[in-house]
Amino acid sequence: MAKQATGVMDAIVSLCKRRGFIFQASEIYGGIGNTYDYGPLGVELLRRIKDAWWDDVVVERANVVGLDSAIIQNPTVWETSGHVGGFSDPMVDCKLCKARFRADKLDDARCPKKPSKKPTECQGELTEPRAFNLMFKTHIGAVEETASVAYLRPETAQGIFLNFKNVMEAGRLKPPFGIAQIGKSFRNEITPGNFVFRTREFEQAEMEFFVPPEEEQQWYDYWRKARYDWYLNLGLNPDKLRMREHETDELAHYSTATADIEYLYPFGWGELEGVACRTDFDLKRHSEASGTDLVYFDPQAKERYTPFVIEPAGGVNRMALTFLIDAYEEQQVGKDVRTVLHFSPQLAPITVGVFPLVKKDGMPEKAAEVEALLRKAHLASFYDEKGAIGRRYRRQDEIGTPYCVTIDGDTLSDGTVTLRHRDSMEQEKVALDELVQVIHERTAAWERPVPQAGPE
Ligand code: ATP
Repeated sequence: MAKQATGVMDAIVSLCKRRGFIFQASEIYGGIGNTYDYGPLGVELLRRIKDAWWDDVVVERANVVGLDSAIIQNPTVWETSGHVGGFSDPMVDCKLCKARFRADKLDDARCPKKPSKKPTECQGELTEPRAFNLMFKTHIGAVEETASVAYLRPETAQGIFLNFKNVMEAGRLKPPFGIAQIGKSFRNEITPGNFVFRTREFEQAEMEFFVPPEEEQQWYDYWRKARYDWYLNLGLNPDKLRMREHETDELAHYSTATADIEYLYPFGWGELEGVACRTDFDLKRHSEASGTDLVYFDPQAKERYTPFVIEPAGGVNRMALTFLIDAYEEQQVGKDVRTVLHFSPQLAPITVGVFPLVKKDGMPEKAAEVEALLRKAHLASFYDEKGAIGRRYRRQDEIGTPYCVTIDGDTLSDGTVTLRHRDSMEQEKVALDELVQVIHERTAAWERPVPQAGPE
């Protein structure tokens, strides 16, 4: 039986721990709130998501380049950007249990006292909302004094604005062009995390696209569609993906338009990525505060202007959670239930499982050769000779491995192997010397399977 939505998150959290995707950070010391470590399969998933993003946003485009800016910048950066004064959530404290909750998300919050209730259900009185800054403070140098205060960046975007001129001049670029960055950001989040949906440290994949002011709308339309399509192409269920335009009263003060790409999580619709028109706000603010003119001079038109900015900003860990949830299925197969992750082959942490049918007759040796051949072709492989073949398939299904190759008697006599497909569970005979090519062809032709009907 397929699981009810409420159980899906628990099932995914448990699978992530059991199979080595995601662990609670500092687990042996009792953990630390909203913080996770990524195990061997988790890092592979994150890496593939980042590669897919970088390929799509940077490598395949002539007008987008990359950057890796520092996490700790001059603290004035965060005063200028408005984060020191304004990057805060309204918080309330429970006078009884001393816990702190986001005033605008009380419905999602749970009291830390057991049995866990919603704030106020425990009879505790809440304080008036207060602004609570989300930036992590640190100190530079040996002395902890006010003058040495610095911040861990709460977003990667500002590092891009600071380098706008450097990158434009070094690359002899002219708008429209983009600067992309993937890197860690830090926010002292208070609300419950829903696993890795909201954590205190997370990776962002952001791009600032600088355009002539009159081209703002055209590029906003372009990037909203491009980013939405990226998720669809990687297999997300179109019925659970939507684009939501912000209402005027929701917009940040510098933004003329913002849209969230939202996904229907087991806990409701949530933001997966935001695409915002940031106007010329950031470049102008940094120009004024730093005294460095962050403008573009168009030699043909002989005019100077501050470019407008379109920003697609996503979270890599939130993407990983979304791909995990979307790929997860408990499928009825005869009398059995098989757990399967229908990852796009592009994202699957392991591409091929390699199995000798039996542990004798030269099959393990041949299978080891096949594994080496696949690794040399950069196809992440996993060798397994333990247990019945059906169980070995199931173990790979559970971590989303799209292909399994079985080496049997035929392999030794006529050089063919059995290629088994995760989604359809179908098997085909493939000549060993065509195996790599066939895997590439099947990967290029992959389409998201329609999941078995079950309760939403
Ligand atoms: P939210 O409303 O969920 O707090 P946000 O609007 O503050 O998000 P942005 O500042 O636009 O988020 O950041 C861009 C992206 O970074 C988000 O769409 C999300 O995918 C990711 N992100 C933001 N905060 C977190 C977090 N605490 N943990 C994990 N990912 C995050």
